[in-house]
Amino acid sequence: MFRRRKRRRRLARAFVLLAVIVTALCWFKYRECITERLQRRPPGIIVHHSASPPRAMGRIIDAAALDRMHAHRGFSKCYKGKVYHIGYHFVILQDGAVQAGRPIGCRGAHTHGREIYNRHIGICLVGNFSSAANRNGSQGPIRPTKAQLRALAKLCSSLMDEYGIKTANIKRHRDVNQTECPGDRFPYRWLIGELNHGQRAASAPKNEPKHRKI
Ligand SMILES: [Zn+2]
Repeated sequence: MFRRRKRRRRLARAFVLLAVIVTALCWFKYRECITERLQRRPPGIIVHHSASPPRAMGRIIDAAALDRMHAHRGFSKCYKGKVYHIGYHFVILQDGAVQAGRPIGCRGAHTHGREIYNRHIGICLVGNFSSAANRNGSQGPIRPTKAQLRALAKLCSSLMDEYGIKTANIKRHRDVNQTECPGDRFPYRWLIGELNHGQRAASAPKNEPKHRKI
């Protein structure tokens, strides 16, 4: 009788110990997942231009073309078993089409030597918007097209919502590296105004009109 009770007590103790170990392991795994998710969450967005005409050698400059170009620039990264050469996460063509570059979870390669900014989402608008390099339009439209700008504002707005990115963290490449990118003709102030307006509209009380009449 006494032995049986002792055995039961030993079993109960082993069970409690096992439960503690399993709970601790689950907790550590959960913490690891959360930390990883937080580290992967992009802190901002960096806007670029491709500094190229929309077509070169008879071929359109798009995400696939940029992927081929970047293969020779040491930007390649393996992510979930696939190798990505393109350094940007998104590419916006002149007709406003948005193409995927590398996945957002895969660290970018679009701000040379500034690793912190490579954690930002890199968006590249195809075209050359520099008045020095494309003064008279020899490399295509001297400014981003309306379709490109609309697509950019929409993409930024949806990424800001998804990742909790603030307007202050929407930057041009030239803000973080010694470069002209995305060119002096890129309308940065317009973009920030649009995004601020979108945020104000989203946070407006429901019983008030979201847009002011002009
Ligand atoms: Zn750039």
